[in-house]
Amino acid sequence: MNQTDQSQIKWCELCRHLSVKFATGARLYAEAVALLAANAPTKSWSEYKRLLHAAEEARRGSEAAGIAFEEHLSSHHETVQRSTRATG
Ligand SMILES: [Zn+2]
Repeated sequence: MNQTDQSQIKWCELCRHLSVKFATGARLYAEAVALLAANAPTKSWSEYKRLLHAAEEARRGSEAAGIAFEEHLSSHHETVQRSTRATG
């Protein structure tokens, strides 16, 4: 555990775009869950299922955005490591 990684990631436009998408996706998911939790007791079964489905969809979207964001940042990180090795 003595390998601390201090390399900085330079954020590009895609980083920013993906981070906003990830944050928005996570917020939509949280809102969908809040809507489900708050309204499910007052709704019919079919309406409950609709809210549940919407929350599931939001969760998948948030997850996909998170993976895309992480993968993109990892690609930056690998680029940093390669260039460090090349110049060092
Ligand atoms: Zn980037």
